[in-house]
Amino acid sequence: MKVLVATEKPFAKKAVDGIRKIVEEAGYELALLEKYTDKAQLLAAVSDVDALIIRSDKVTAEVVAAAPKLKIVVRAGAGYDNVDLATCTAKGIVVMNTPGQNSNAVAELAIGMMIFMARNQFTPGTGSEIHGKTLGIHAYGHVGRLVGKYGRAMGLKVYAYDPFITDAKIFEEDGVIALNSVEELYSKCDYISLHIPATEQTKKSINRELLSKMPQGATLVNTARKEVIDEAGLAAILEERPDLKYITDIAADIQPELNEKFGKRVFATTKKMGAETAEANINAGLAAATQIVDFFKNGNTRFQVNK
Ligand code: NAD
Repeated sequence: MKVLVATEKPFAKKAVDGIRKIVEEAGYELALLEKYTDKAQLLAAVSDVDALIIRSDKVTAEVVAAAPKLKIVVRAGAGYDNVDLATCTAKGIVVMNTPGQNSNAVAELAIGMMIFMARNQFTPGTGSEIHGKTLGIHAYGHVGRLVGKYGRAMGLKVYAYDPFITDAKIFEEDGVIALNSVEELYSKCDYISLHIPATEQTKKSINRELLSKMPQGATLVNTARKEVIDEAGLAAILEERPDLKYITDIAADIQPELNEKFGKRVFATTKKMGAETAEANINAGLAAATQIVDFFKNGNTRFQVNK
């Protein structure tokens, strides 16, 4: 059984060592393709593998076609919009993610981003404090829940909107106020932290109209995906409302234009870095390797996302 780790943006070394240990102890072979610069390298590397571990790497129909033995793809991370699920499903390939393994890293970044914007991007001038403000968690999954917890610890009043969580106790036990509409969330909160996945339903859903509901001086923090933002709508509302701010871990396609027009009211990390901690790398990488072994040895499909 051959397992390939294909990472254009490699894991920390400690994570790779841990993955190797798990794979080899199971009696399988590990192959590594790191920092590849050309799709052809990936196509060649998958030709004889049974399992594939990826990060933000794209598993397209072309990649699947080049991997006749492939049985399982594990995205070491939460979002799996970089995998062509329909093609994998049609070929009987199991696709998994590793939910929760990098959430803490992303949640810490979201809180850091709030403070960074409240303090004029760490440049001179009078800033503000996040204590006592309202925080809206848009999607209360693994990351959102932690951002809520850390926000509460820092004295913010936390609201959340997640229509797929029907058990009110989850919010109550966390001391978070659940709202029934996304419009209400945006209209109540000084900070909105985005944690929705990029799906057909959510793409471009953060639009001018929704953002126009935000209170005076509000900040939108995006550690989710750029695709969920209606970029033209975002630019329009930033133009209309000089009090609003936007910070993102995933630069917009129009980021240069936003930076030029709105200066310190906007900020984008140069490369997505939410999950880019040694701890998150290790957690997600080892979970991916363990899930593959457990799938082959015991048929465990608990984390399958294309059931
Ligand atoms: P998760 O699957 O645990 O949670 C996602 C939540 O979104 C779920 O609770 C679901 O009910 C909710 N949801 C789905 N559709 C919704 C909608 N239309 N409206 C409101 N809520 C909706 O995922 P997670 O681990 O919390 O990660 C969230 C997202 O963050 C991922 O999908 C990924 O895109 C992004 N992410 C980014 C980084 C980064 O490096 N910046 C790292 C990890 C995850």
